[in-house]
Amino acid sequence: MTSDLLNLEGVTKSYASSGLLARKTFNAVDEVGFALDASRPEIFAIIGESGSGKTTLARMILNMVPTSAGTIRFRDKALATIRGRRARLDFMRQVQPIFQNPYEAFNPLKRVDRYLYATARRLARVGRTEVDRVCDEALRKVGLSLAEVRGRFPHELSGGQLQRTAIARALISGPALLVADEPVSMVDASLRMSIVDLFKALRDELGVSIVYITHDLATAYHISDRIIIMQKGRVVESGDARAVLDNPQHPYSKLLKSAVLSPDNAETDEKVADPSVLPFDTRTV
Ligand code: ADP
Ligand code: MG
Repeated sequence: MTSDLLNLEGVTKSYASSGLLARKTFNAVDEVGFALDASRPEIFAIIGESGSGKTTLARMILNMVPTSAGTIRFRDKALATIRGRRARLDFMRQVQPIFQNPYEAFNPLKRVDRYLYATARRLARVGRTEVDRVCDEALRKVGLSLAEVRGRFPHELSGGQLQRTAIARALISGPALLVADEPVSMVDASLRMSIVDLFKALRDELGVSIVYITHDLATAYHISDRIIIMQKGRVVESGDARAVLDNPQHPYSKLLKSAVLSPDNAETDEKVADPSVLPFDTRTV
């Protein structure tokens, strides 16, 4: 037995590559490894540009797609060995997803409280008389209440309210781990920080660990304890969030940071990108 909540070793996902050459494959996720300690809830960020393999990795951690190679363990149990409805439900109770677009996560024709009720009944095994209380409790953890969302359709809530409702739904079963795949990228920029701050509060007050997937260095810097930076399926840099983002070592990490700190949105002049890490070397042009 280890004390790991989540442990990934050599995790790889291969897909057939598009193109004319038959039977060619590429690794969307390539030998990724990391572990989260069960005794220390943390926000663990996976950072990378579009196409770097973040969603594929998230879906493997959520046991929605199998790995091609390597092992993912949740509390020492390999996900590949989870069999049967009861074991699957038990896993889902403990590991919950939050997706990028809340308007896609909710059926537009279904009232949002129905999702909360269904999750409470099915995953948390809450009896009919307790459902309202349990859903209200979950909504209060994200700054809403059942009175505010009851009877509403998704389009009747703002993007921020709907994403908070999705987070509340994920909390109903009392999970130990949330896997949030770009959870604020569809949310209005002015509301992003309040939602990522909510993740911090969930870590500190409920002891939930969070895998926070993003291409946004600013929110990652703000809330993460540790990060990994992915490029083309591989981890190119990892460590303490502030140490890595204050002083990135890998050229790709430097490039990501320099893109954020372009002159338009640089916080201070001395932080403006080092020209040696620009996509092309202007000095030789
Ligand atoms: P990200 O979330 O970082 O943008 P993804 O995990 O969605 O990256 O995708 C990583 C790579 O894997 C991309 O090149 C994407 O086209 C490819 N990919 C993702 N899912 C599939 C799939 N089901 N079949 C084939 N290729 C896929
Ligand atoms: Mg993605």
